[in-house]
Amino acid sequence: MPDTIFDKILRGEIPSHKLYEDDQVLAFLDIAPLSFGHALLIPKERAQTLDQLSDESSAALGRVLPRLCRALKKLTGVSAFNVLENNESLAHQAVPHVHFHIIPKPDEASGLGVRWLAGKLDHARGAELAAQVVKELAG
Ligand code: AMP
Repeated sequence: MPDTIFDKILRGEIPSHKLYEDDQVLAFLDIAPLSFGHALLIPKERAQTLDQLSDESSAALGRVLPRLCRALKKLTGVSAFNVLENNESLAHQAVPHVHFHIIPKPDEASGLGVRWLAGKLDHARGAELAAQVVKELAG
């Protein structure tokens, strides 16, 4: 996996507004925020997409994420927020190192805008997929 800008932040080679750090994760402010307080939470483990991440790093992210959301809610005074995690460029991932965006939503005009093109579930295909996933995860 090639070096990314987040590796440079992790090594302290480029500056960031650090919010939290422990052995496994780092949180800092996004340099091009969608709203004030837009933050990123990343694992120190180098993985491009969430599915490639170890259970240890995943658990560390899960432990810190709600705590970080609580702090940002309290200190920005904005109660609505989105959590976003993009995987691969087709899904809008620009930096190929796993990261969760925490994006305060102060009003309609700022924060995350979502284009949500809802379809209709094909229940036959859905049931087939559900059975396959259940089997995969049990194995
Ligand atoms: P994504 O499109 O999900 O890969 O998002 C990458 C995010 O990283 C964008 O929101 C960028 O603004 C942010 N970003 C890129 N470089 C930096 C940096 N040096 N410091 C903080 N955030 C950054």
